Amino acid sequence: MKDIYSREIDGHTLSAQTLMMGYGYDPHRSEGAVKPPVFLTSTFVFPSAEAGAHFFDQTAGRVPLDQGQDSAGLVYSRFNHPNMEIFERRFALYDGGAAAAAFSSGMAAISASFFALCRPGDVVVHSMPLYGGTETLMRKLMTQWGVILLELPAEASAERVLATLEEGAKLGHVAMVYVEAPSNPTNDLIDFEVINQAVNLHASKALRRPLIVCDNTMMGPVFCQPSLHGADLCVYSLTKYVGGHSDLVAGAVAGTKSIVDQVRSVRSATGSQPDPHTCWMLSRSLETLELRMRYSASSATTVAAWLSSNEFAEVKVLHPDHIDSVAYQKIFKTYFSAAGSTFSFVVPGGREAAFKLIDNLQLMKSAVSLGGTETLVCHPASTTHSGVSVEMRQRFGVDDGLIRISIGLEKPEDLIADLRHAMNKAFPRTAP
Ligand SMILES: *Cc1c(COP(=O)(O)O)cnc(C)c1O
Repeated sequence: MKDIYSREIDGHTLSAQTLMMGYGYDPHRSEGAVKPPVFLTSTFVFPSAEAGAHFFDQTAGRVPLDQGQDSAGLVYSRFNHPNMEIFERRFALYDGGAAAAAFSSGMAAISASFFALCRPGDVVVHSMPLYGGTETLMRKLMTQWGVILLELPAEASAERVLATLEEGAKLGHVAMVYVEAPSNPTNDLIDFEVINQAVNLHASKALRRPLIVCDNTMMGPVFCQPSLHGADLCVYSLTKYVGGHSDLVAGAVAGTKSIVDQVRSVRSATGSQPDPHTCWMLSRSLETLELRMRYSASSATTVAAWLSSNEFAEVKVLHPDHIDSVAYQKIFKTYFSAAGSTFSFVVPGGREAAFKLIDNLQLMKSAVSLGGTETLVCHPASTTHSGVSVEMRQRFGVDDGLIRISIGLEKPEDLIADLRHAMNKAFPRTAP
């Protein structure tokens, strides 16, 4: 029988993209089906009572796994099920981490990470701005559990990161440095090595090393792999690029096995696992992830270039190709292999002009979320970031004229035609 866990042929290492087509699934255990069936079952029959007892001991971590076994025997679908196992193994390969655990949403993955890795009185140092849901989770919920929050600005120097860690250490144990890169919607970046160095320096003086957790939803796992730059754990909303078709909600964590195991045990205890059908769709999506991300990133570059030189209005384009800070470009080139396909642009005329532009688009849909096959536009100030104070929005550049765009798989020339039409309506040129 062929080895379904092999990652090489005669010393040639296989790429993640290739392994997405078959890794970890044995067709001969499912009537030869090329694709895994959807295992719609809540519970699993034990071969014997003794085996059942053994599986339970393994699932609870009371006994180690058997030699050559990579997960506990199946017991009950809240803990594990075949579609979730197949997806998790493949996703860990793509992320570059040792292990992965899937969740019912990105927020389920992020909240399980907090509950697994932080205790009352602990300090979390985090980058700013954060995804709105994460912001709410931290500020409204985690603080009620006694977690203390400290902010870190984007592009912070090693001295600044270290100073923040030391400030945190006066308040409690710094359990976590939580970063989001690039930030949404302004594409701010964090320098992973700077964070890593500061954390290591801090750890030499503290009792325990803070864990580095990165929300890698926007660029990962294809264009950015923070685990190569010191991150202990990546968290993901799979609802975005990984799911990629705007037809499911799911999340994941990936990284060091012992940490993933801790987060997974919160999932087992609270029941935030994704169902078999969602996991099946996620595995399907992994097969085309790289193709989709590369195509849409290439189109986004074309669309961003058109926007920055369009003939209708002066538009500030927050796409990495058009952000000309030297520090930004250095970080960008070090950690990202492409610019991704979600970026923002700021039109003159504030909310009124932005709304007019959005309402005149024919192809692009006005909706929140990103990373799907279809191009979506949204106006963060009145939607995703409407709960953020005006002062904070100004501080992080979420202008009233800012529009976020997530480029999909349409032909870029068609997207440009759509934008040209809408720009012409929003900024009509007066006859000379
Ligand atoms: C969407 C998103 C989340 C939350 O994910 P859900 O799947 O909606 O729960 C977290 N972080 C980022 C960066 C996101 O874009």
